[in-house]
Amino acid sequence: MRQLIIIGSGPAGYTAAIYAARANLKPLVVASSVEAGGELMNTTEVENFPGFPEGVQGPDLMTKMQEQAERFGAEVVYDDVTALDLAGSVKRVTLGSGRVEEADALIFATGSAYRKIGIAGEERLSGRGVSWCATCDGFFFRERTIAVVGGGDSAMEEATFLTRFASKIYVIHRRDELRASKIMQERAFANDKIEFVWNSAVTDILGEDAVTGVQLTSTVDGSTRELELQGLFVAIGNDPRTHLVHDQLELTAEGTIWVDGRSSRTSVPGVFAAGDVIDPTYRQAVTAAASGTVAALDAEHFLAALDEAGTPAPDADQIEGLPVL
Ligand code: NAP
Repeated sequence: MRQLIIIGSGPAGYTAAIYAARANLKPLVVASSVEAGGELMNTTEVENFPGFPEGVQGPDLMTKMQEQAERFGAEVVYDDVTALDLAGSVKRVTLGSGRVEEADALIFATGSAYRKIGIAGEERLSGRGVSWCATCDGFFFRERTIAVVGGGDSAMEEATFLTRFASKIYVIHRRDELRASKIMQERAFANDKIEFVWNSAVTDILGEDAVTGVQLTSTVDGSTRELELQGLFVAIGNDPRTHLVHDQLELTAEGTIWVDGRSSRTSVPGVFAAGDVIDPTYRQAVTAAASGTVAALDAEHFLAALDEAGTPAPDADQIEGLPVL
């Protein structure tokens, strides 16, 4: 049996792995089969991660984090968790391959998943003009007219990046002011290829086999109109990935995993959580990395206390005072 399993391979998971590996806990990192490295694998230049004054490519940063964790003894497996059993003192993790791993402690750092608009056409035309990843799919829209939905940093980043390919980019936002940081806004405003469509919601995506346009509904007076385009990039935020644990760990009203104060301790002893999956507010690579550090230190203390006591970890139902949310 292992001491520690880390689920997730974004900045939180790998930073937790670096700390845990340096503490000689020999953590297993379950990195996912298709999304290893997390969200930064889908981004280009990261300009705000400290230590890189010239910026760093997202995938390069994640490769370096992985190498750093492995250098100290972390083991990385490219597989998905299909089932988790957290209730007992031994945490059981079932992988897609059927392999079952057990550990005394577990760090859950699964990040967040792209949010969907939830309208007709979105699923049907996914991969046929509807995308959530400009760096993955931008290339297919050379000299096309496309739109990005959203008003946050992601939408500004995607729109600006897509100007490399598309001839015209609408940014469709439901309000008349952006949520994005000033620097990202200004960059988008200064780009001639980008036109803002304010106070508008995308209420339908048009096209049979490929996107031909969208229906817009005014959030001010409810009037509708159609906009012709060939691609739609959805960048309206993310939701924490909690489907594996929503019936085993307490969640907050925002849908993130509940943790005790500034710690990473969840409602189940021996289970710690870090990164976007506990953070409804900041969700930066550097805050996720810091959160991974907290989780590794908490797990280390938990395991050290187990060693000292020489007893198995308490089961969840033996702990009083769990939060009622
Ligand atoms: P976000 O900040 O939550 O912004 C989401 C945007 O989508 C908001 O403008 C929101 O509108 C809009 N929206 C949400 N649900 C919608 C819906 N159902 N229909 C239409 N519009 C909807 O998410 P984000 O832009 O993905 O950024 C997430 C975090 O990552 C932020 O902390 C951000 O700073 C960070 N980030 C940083 C960088 C960078 O620094 N380079 C790049 C990307 C992301 P309202 O404004 O009306 O709520």
